Amino acid sequence: MDKTFIFGHKNPDTDSICSAMALANLRSKLGEEVEATRLGELNKETEYAFKTFNIKAPRLLEKVEPGTNVIMVDHNEFSQSVDGIEDANIKMLVDHHKISNFKTKEPVFMHSEPVGCTGTILYKLYNQNNVDIDKESASLMLSAIASDTLLFKSPTCTPDDIKAARELEKIAGVNLEEYGMNLLKAGTNLDDVSEKDLINMDAKEFNIKGKKVVIAQVNTVDINDVMKRQEGIEAEINKAIKDNNLDLFLFAATDIINGNSELLALGNSADAIEKTYKLENHRAFAEGLVSRKKQFLPLVENNL
Ligand code: MG
Ligand code: MG
Ligand code: MG
Repeated sequence: MDKTFIFGHKNPDTDSICSAMALANLRSKLGEEVEATRLGELNKETEYAFKTFNIKAPRLLEKVEPGTNVIMVDHNEFSQSVDGIEDANIKMLVDHHKISNFKTKEPVFMHSEPVGCTGTILYKLYNQNNVDIDKESASLMLSAIASDTLLFKSPTCTPDDIKAARELEKIAGVNLEEYGMNLLKAGTNLDDVSEKDLINMDAKEFNIKGKKVVIAQVNTVDINDVMKRQEGIEAEINKAIKDNNLDLFLFAATDIINGNSELLALGNSADAIEKTYKLENHRAFAEGLVSRKKQFLPLVENNL
């Protein structure tokens, strides 16, 4: 049987990397030949998790040949997936996003739940399969949940995420509050990140009402720290808009301490944001907004 490649989305976040690995550990224990891979460089947050738990990063996957067996985690939209995904053999999906722009050639195992993190679904899959969770896998799933739910503060967080994290915390042998805050803070250390990388590190592309939209997000402990670089950020966004024919690029700098975001909207459809937020110098302060999935994406969908 051919090996199956497991991966999360492009511009991978901690959930996309860690869930691919935790699922690979599970499928291996069930006797399958699988390999966790990644569709981009690790961000600083994920690097911190790997350093803390002494975990080695998976291999970069550039594209897949037609007929390659794959499992998608933490995403389902082809616009966010590996090059060649349209002709791959998708065997399974484990995800917590809305299903969109996704189809398969063959019947598929789908584990899709409206929870805060793919790691939470994986925790349930370990239990459903009666497989003991080893320390590495617990560390991976715990890191993913802490990251995706902003330590339970995101509106995407559910009781299932909290329950899973509390169990995983014991196996991983760390204090979740302490480890989680250090993890999130590690991802906000952006001074030596170029403006180009800043707008790409957590960017996702969506097709909304026939328009090409990118929503990018960075976490920070001080919004001004990011926005003092507005000129350079705008230059890179405008370049991305031109190069990729985007209608809208929405960039959010999210204050993980206070749970707010500063929005920066550029592109021909940027005025759509003005239906909700008055933009000044292309910017608006969005009080209480932290989640792309539950807040930024609906904002664009409702207004575009
Ligand atoms: Mg993700
Ligand atoms: Mg996720
Ligand atoms: Mg995220």
